[in-house]
Amino acid sequence: MPLDNLRGLYQQVILERYKKPHNFGRVDPVHRHQRGHNPSCGDTIDLTLQLDPSQERIVDIKFEGAGCAIALASADLMADAVRGRTIPEALQLVERFQAMMRGGEEFPREQRALNAMKGVAQFPVRIKCANLAWHALKYALESPEPQANGSAVVSNENTD
Ligand code: ZN
Repeated sequence: MPLDNLRGLYQQVILERYKKPHNFGRVDPVHRHQRGHNPSCGDTIDLTLQLDPSQERIVDIKFEGAGCAIALASADLMADAVRGRTIPEALQLVERFQAMMRGGEEFPREQRALNAMKGVAQFPVRIKCANLAWHALKYALESPEPQANGSAVVSNENTD
């Protein structure tokens, strides 16, 4: 599905984030690490998180990886949205994002940057691309112990 089908401003945001992501790289130190893979498109993502000493709040989050514009732009927007949030707040954003991809409501003003991804919901085959980073984040946050070298590859094949 070509990006031409995503219109106007939203398409522009996605392409800009893809070309010049704000959050590409690895955090240091790494407290959570999760890789994700979307076999239907070939997107891969390597997500690292730094938490505060109480392990309750995301201090920093970055990603590396390769994939389509939708997968990488979604990861970049996600990192901006969850940096500084508590883990429960971040998990709520994951749920809300996945709901938006199923045709649910847009984000309110504070997180409106994420609404750039809403147009993707019209293209079922690309929803997995948009959800990949969020799926990896959920795994990273719900893993029972902090992992420095999480090696599991997560497929989001069944999440929509
Ligand atoms: Zn993709």
